[in-house]
Amino acid sequence: MLNQVEELASKALDELAKVTSVDQLEAWRISYLGRKGSLIQILRSLSSVPLEERRLVGARANQLKTSLEIAFDEKKSRLEQDLTQSLAKETIDVTLPGQLVPLGRLHPTTQIVQEICDIFSSMGFQIVEGPEVEWDYYNFEALNMPADHPARDMFATLWMDFETKTGERPMLLRTHTSPVQIRVMEKSAPPIRIIAPGRVYRYEATDATHEWMFYQVEGLAVDKNISLADLKGTLFEFARRLFGADRKCRFRCDYFPFVEPGVEVAIDCMVCHGEGCRLCGNTGWIEILGAGMVHPEVLRRVKIDPDVYSGFAFGMGVERIPILRYGIDDIRLFYNNDLRFLQQF
Ligand SMILES: [Zn+2]
Repeated sequence: MLNQVEELASKALDELAKVTSVDQLEAWRISYLGRKGSLIQILRSLSSVPLEERRLVGARANQLKTSLEIAFDEKKSRLEQDLTQSLAKETIDVTLPGQLVPLGRLHPTTQIVQEICDIFSSMGFQIVEGPEVEWDYYNFEALNMPADHPARDMFATLWMDFETKTGERPMLLRTHTSPVQIRVMEKSAPPIRIIAPGRVYRYEATDATHEWMFYQVEGLAVDKNISLADLKGTLFEFARRLFGADRKCRFRCDYFPFVEPGVEVAIDCMVCHGEGCRLCGNTGWIEILGAGMVHPEVLRRVKIDPDVYSGFAFGMGVERIPILRYGIDDIRLFYNNDLRFLQQF
């Protein structure tokens, strides 16, 4: 009788190992563990067996019943798992939410640079870039500011470690985009119409209105018969396109070493329309850029004859424009990399 149980055990486990589907598994369960299954039959026939043997066989048969039930459960869950996996391979659930791809955006400064360049390139200006690490010559000297010129004090300059054999340090981080004008005029003959956007650097303590790095856009036009009227017309058109068609422009005398005469350009305040408010400091006007007619000395230095040619130049800080447009009260926000700020634009 005990042999019969052992035989049944090995037969049942062999067959279970061959089962590959849920249907087969159910058939196996009925034939071994079902109410008419082989195991129950053995247990039922125990009554005709002597007591001693009955106890032994009974214990073994019950043990087998438990282990077969466990084996059945394991097999069942494995089959179900296989089934889900093969289903997953074959079908795509179109109702599942997709994976979100984080989308970036252009920095507010880049957006404004592009906007400015678009306006000027539509007027025939070409976009040019220059190096951010610059020679003293291009940053100051060629722009009419020799070594002892007091106007150099207007630019808190960051100098590079590089030293010449005679102990001079002629390399710096450009303090304005104007050196690009010299580089362009050296290499090309008039007519010249360029826009030069880029980063500039100042050795300055930062506060709400000062950063040690910011952007400028520089413009230059050199040709025969260029006059202050061309400068005014170009910048007036620019201001109207950037700040709205009903803008007024004000031109006032100002001093920059590389232009003569120099002007400071302001637009009427877009908030109070000239009445006076906090944005414009109660003046009704907002300064947006500096400009002027290229100094004859600057032209002479790059071998353009000032008796034949004349030109105008202008330069502006880029961040000033979004600051005015969106009412931003701290320039440092631009380069703190705080997404809560940047994502608004
Ligand atoms: Zn105002």
